[in-house]
Amino acid sequence: QFHKSKGQHILKNPLLVDSIIQKAGINSTDVILEIGPGTGNLTKKLLEAGKSVVAVELDPRMVLELQRRFQGTPHSNRLKASFRLSVIQGDVLKCDLPYFDICVANIPYQISSPLTFKLLNHRPLFRCAVIMFQREFAMRLVAQPGDTLYCRLSVNTQLLARVSHLLKVGRNNFRPPPKVDSSVVRIEPRKPAPTVNFKEWDGLVRICFTRKNKTIGAIFKQKRILSILEKNYKTLQALQISQENGQEMATDASVLGDSGEMTMETDDENDDGDDDMDMDDGEAKGSDFKEKIMGVLKQGKYEDKRSSKLAQADFMHLLSLFNQAGIHFS
Ligand code: SAM
Repeated sequence: QFHKSKGQHILKNPLLVDSIIQKAGINSTDVILEIGPGTGNLTKKLLEAGKSVVAVELDPRMVLELQRRFQGTPHSNRLKASFRLSVIQGDVLKCDLPYFDICVANIPYQISSPLTFKLLNHRPLFRCAVIMFQREFAMRLVAQPGDTLYCRLSVNTQLLARVSHLLKVGRNNFRPPPKVDSSVVRIEPRKPAPTVNFKEWDGLVRICFTRKNKTIGAIFKQKRILSILEKNYKTLQALQISQENGQEMATDASVLGDSGEMTMETDDENDDGDDDMDMDDGEAKGSDFKEKIMGVLKQGKYEDKRSSKLAQADFMHLLSLFNQAGIHFS
């Protein structure tokens, strides 16, 4: 009766539900967002802990079941649960989210990445999100420079939030059990949000992690990367000149393309671990633009460094050096 395609794995261990609730640090005044409430095992305890729950559920059968379960049932001696629960039927990635203080959810794993960034882009910023993810995804979220799983997802999430691992959860706590183990992670948005242009930041990080064990110098010497950056650079320059001359010019400055969805696979699937010998993309011959790029890398001493070891502050610094030189990534 459960749909695998909708990631329906119901939490069946009440002790685990309790421990998630306890670790979430819910206040009695909190408006709670739950994603994918399913049959409502977590919802029931969220209603007991907070002021109200907004639950977004894709499957209409589950919505019916939830309504049946909570209709008119008094919960503790506070307001009736039915008044404090509102259910939105739909795809959480497509709907507008209401105000919430805290998000607690056992989500379908296929939406992990877009959901994380949807939450982090939501305003006003919430206090924290406590979410069950597939174990490997969770470990990528919290990975630090030098860790094996450190990747674009780690860098981008940690730009916007502080992330910590809360709980390891074995697959047998679910019905039906998924094929992978899980982990509960806490995500606390940084306040105020960093002022960096996220598209541009992601553009740089994406390039740096195309081969995370190669040196930054080797990555930026590749023809393909240089030519994209040079095109972008020239477009922006032309745009600037035409603006200075008061002309209008219809130009699409973002030749790097859409930043797209971030999945676990895209990060370093091509990362075969070998180093600077790997020149399959072809190293560009000397050119002014290449020299310009190498100049920026030398200036910050990034040439011989590898993304796998660079911290947030390093990427931030590298981006500002590029920007000062008029080089942009979106
Ligand atoms: N929270 C329940 C529990 O812990 O027992 C169920 C969790 S189950 C892993 C995920 C739930 O998310 C399912 O009920 C599924 O129907 C729902 N779901 C799947 N995709 C969704 C989407 N895009 N938006 C909202 N809900 C979704």
